[in-house]
Amino acid sequence: MTLVYVNNVHKAFGDLEVLKGISLSVAEGEVVAIIGRSGSGKSTLLRCLNQLEKHDSGEITIADKQLDAASMSPKELSENVGMVFQSFNLFPHKTVGENVCLAPLVVRGEEKADVDKIAREVLEKVGLSDKYDAYPAQLSGGQQQRVAIARALAMRPKVMLCDEVTSALDPELVGEVLRVLEALAAEGMTLILVTHEMSFARDVADRVVFMHQGRIHEEGVPSELFSNPQTPELKQFISAVL
Ligand code: ADP
Ligand code: MG
Repeated sequence: MTLVYVNNVHKAFGDLEVLKGISLSVAEGEVVAIIGRSGSGKSTLLRCLNQLEKHDSGEITIADKQLDAASMSPKELSENVGMVFQSFNLFPHKTVGENVCLAPLVVRGEEKADVDKIAREVLEKVGLSDKYDAYPAQLSGGQQQRVAIARALAMRPKVMLCDEVTSALDPELVGEVLRVLEALAAEGMTLILVTHEMSFARDVADRVVFMHQGRIHEEGVPSELFSNPQTPELKQFISAVL
């Protein structure tokens, strides 16, 4: 079943056309890695998928519902789509548990006891059940990013968007975050990830999408795409990053 459907989406900032007709369907449970040079529009595409940016034209549906304020309320959107960013953006004055509980309490209006239970479950999932009462500053970058993933999971989204979630981490902390994403993928979570971790894309993604100058320039299963790139742009990108 198609969970995320993007059809001919355009987005410009002033005169700068950043997305020039993106079409992409992502099935439930599918893991899609988006790769491409800096400035190719990867983050803008993800931001359109949770309406941090409004697309100018074209169609985006999540679980068969149009992604616009008339058809999907911000509350409903936040329940469908989770996002994790390069910078973890945890609230520094709140504990790990409070960070994770906040959106379900405030946005979903769920009961404290229920939310607490979910928070403990998702923290266990990211391997941080012992950090419920810790403050972000007491955690490593990798642990903070895992809290940010747990915070997104606490809303039980249908799809998780991850924008270069390991790019701000020291190299030795990258693996622990990738392992959490890999476990989510194995559990059947639908994931759309922008990543520079090519080996992760190759091992975990069902499909890799190469963006170039605001378009999907090439896409395919990772083994094919990486071993047999069809366009000079992808060939050049691969040789630059591998
Ligand atoms: P990527 O994530 O692939 O590096 P982005 O989607 O962040 O690319 O950016 C694509 C282009 O859009 C870049 O040229 C960037 O400077 C521009 N851009 C992104 N967001 C904005 C914005 N809010 N206002 C103006 N220009 C933007
Ligand atoms: Mg980006």
